[in-house]
Amino acid sequence: MAEVENLSAVLKKKGELVLENTPIPLPGKNEVQLKMAAVGICGSDVHYLVNGRIGDFIVKSPMILGHESAGIVSALGEGVTNLKVGDRVAIEPGVPCRMCSFCKEGRYNLCPDVFFCATPPDDGSLRRYYCHAADFCFKLPDHVSLEEGALLEPLSVGVHACRRAGVRLGSRVLVLGAGPIGLLALLTAKAMGATHIAITDLDQGRLDVAKKLGAHHALRVDTRDAEEMARRVEAALGCKPEISIECSGAEPSIQTGIYATKSGGVLVLVGLGPPTVNVPMVSAALREVDIRGIFRYANCYPLALEMIASGKVDAKPLITHHFPLEKTLEAFETSRTGAGGAIKVMIHCDQ
Ligand code: NAD
Ligand code: ZN
Repeated sequence: MAEVENLSAVLKKKGELVLENTPIPLPGKNEVQLKMAAVGICGSDVHYLVNGRIGDFIVKSPMILGHESAGIVSALGEGVTNLKVGDRVAIEPGVPCRMCSFCKEGRYNLCPDVFFCATPPDDGSLRRYYCHAADFCFKLPDHVSLEEGALLEPLSVGVHACRRAGVRLGSRVLVLGAGPIGLLALLTAKAMGATHIAITDLDQGRLDVAKKLGAHHALRVDTRDAEEMARRVEAALGCKPEISIECSGAEPSIQTGIYATKSGGVLVLVGLGPPTVNVPMVSAALREVDIRGIFRYANCYPLALEMIASGKVDAKPLITHHFPLEKTLEAFETSRTGAGGAIKVMIHCDQ
């Protein structure tokens, strides 16, 4: 009976991902039930599978994976007025408490009591049916695909990074790391008006994609000498970038980010590497380079959707692979190994 099952991708424990049926959830007050459609695999999903933890977030009991997702409203909970059954929506996966000072100030990504899909102990959305707060679901116009809806999640990270960096018309920007997050930061920076963008990576294949997406300069990192890389960035751009957005988390890359950024500029740290890194802090201090972190995003889905819906940003080329829910394990293996030039692997939950 196809309609009564709820096939779900459950991470039992580190290294053990299984597909099994879980109860179909019913929407509570102000929630919608969603028939899931597209779920992108994020590096963090792979990380929980391989390592069982990210920092202090530890998988202690079985958890359903998936948080980059879109689906179709299949039932309304009490009180929902903004959506109707059949609406196609992108799902913003973090629902904050709405009561604390961070929530009240609008920086709800910093809420200590946020529910976030597939961050332990919260279950994710990689399953046939899932329920979510209706006001954290964004209705997609007809011409925006559900896959693009799923991409709004990592795109929102790019939006938040570019907003924190202050990207605007004429900005010269360095993006460090050309994984999905770096590439989406590149697309966002371009859409926000950056006119000269350099991007770095170890991997030539990813740099080639970055070039196709509109990077003006794509620099392969072949040295751990951060000052040397910074010189190459300056030579490529013709001057130092006033904004750098670090999207690898690698220590040498963060170091390059500091050396490369123009005095008085901003370095935004998106990439998450080891908890402690050695960086040339005095160079940043003496040259008034502001170092800003970002944690996910807040209030970024509407702009991310507008960028896609208006055609300002085409994120579709990032999707390199497709798998049905039944082949989730294969999908994760493809994402983990980067086989076949995989960038964003998309899982389709509908039968
Ligand atoms: P990814 O691993 O696919 O991409 C990282 C890229 O960095 C790879 O292409 C890799 O080749 C490149 N790289 C590695 N070392 C490098 C170096 N020394 N110089 C330049 N490039 C180098 O990961 P992703 O999904 O694109 O995510 C990027 C980072 O952003 C991850 O660390 C992830 O944890 C982090 N992230 C942070 C937030 C946040 O809220 N702060 C949100 C999402 C992702
Ligand atoms: Zn809160």
